Amino acid sequence: MAMIDVVLGVDIGGTNTKYGLVDRGGKSIAQTSIPTNAHEPAANLIDRLHDGFTAMLSPLKATHVLRGIGMGAPNANFFRGTVENPPNLSWKGVVPVADMMRSHYDVPVALTNDANAAALGEMLYGAAKGMKNFIVITLGTGLGSGIVAAGELVYGADGFAGEIGHTMVDPDGRECGCGQRGHLETYASATGLCRTVGELLAMRRDDSPLRSVPPKDLTSRIVADAANAGDPIACEAFEVTGEILGMKLADSVAHLSPEAIILFGGLAAAGPLIFEPTARSLEEHLLPIFKNKVRLLPSALREGDTAVLGAAALIWNELLKQQKP
Ligand SMILES: [Zn+2]
Repeated sequence: MAMIDVVLGVDIGGTNTKYGLVDRGGKSIAQTSIPTNAHEPAANLIDRLHDGFTAMLSPLKATHVLRGIGMGAPNANFFRGTVENPPNLSWKGVVPVADMMRSHYDVPVALTNDANAAALGEMLYGAAKGMKNFIVITLGTGLGSGIVAAGELVYGADGFAGEIGHTMVDPDGRECGCGQRGHLETYASATGLCRTVGELLAMRRDDSPLRSVPPKDLTSRIVADAANAGDPIACEAFEVTGEILGMKLADSVAHLSPEAIILFGGLAAAGPLIFEPTARSLEEHLLPIFKNKVRLLPSALREGDTAVLGAAALIWNELLKQQKP
């Protein structure tokens, strides 16, 4: 019987690290998750990953062969295979994560940030199949982005291209996690939406079920539920968020002329509440030559698998490139 080629996809998050085996067609063979233990050194996580993965692979050894390892992590540098001063992990300085994995496995290892991995996941298995120019925006705690131009992920000169979340909306605006002010992710993210709700509640006197939610407990899901039940504050918060996001995506279209922009992540799960105002604002701010051409699409990756699939797509993409003459 022919052996089945698989890769290991690993997604290192601030709380959990997910990993799994994925075949060439994007089928998940096995998947699990371990705590990242973000306060411990990286070597501890890599050792635990190695143990878990050995246990995962051993019953499959007779039928499956490991071809490569793809990894997604915050502040990951594709060129150097390093994670550099990650915001949600206490790892200090520049950590050679790819080399640490290579010390355990004699297969190609590739590492990039989670938004870039998501973009490759959409290109190989999701909403961007067959596309050569598109942008994936991840709307979670922050705003991440992965850009594909002419069929290639854009890494830029030093591997960090695509920080659309840290482009400017208002120089005197909200404080951003990066230390500057008024960046896009302070408005267009799950956190940004909740900040907008807080501002609207302070400015308005309208009754709203959101008034009884302590600010620290507010989530984009709660705001979406309130908006779907007709709460005007929640509805306006989505309008404001979509307006700002659409305006800045029009900037990105001017830079890149993509055929589609794919919205992904927790806030994108709010569906029409976020897609409609974003699409309207995007069209409004586009240069005439781009109007009615750029599609705004939801992710087509299976929820729950997306991070591991994206990391797997990263290494499949590298392996496919090596096969080309
Ligand atoms: Zn910023």
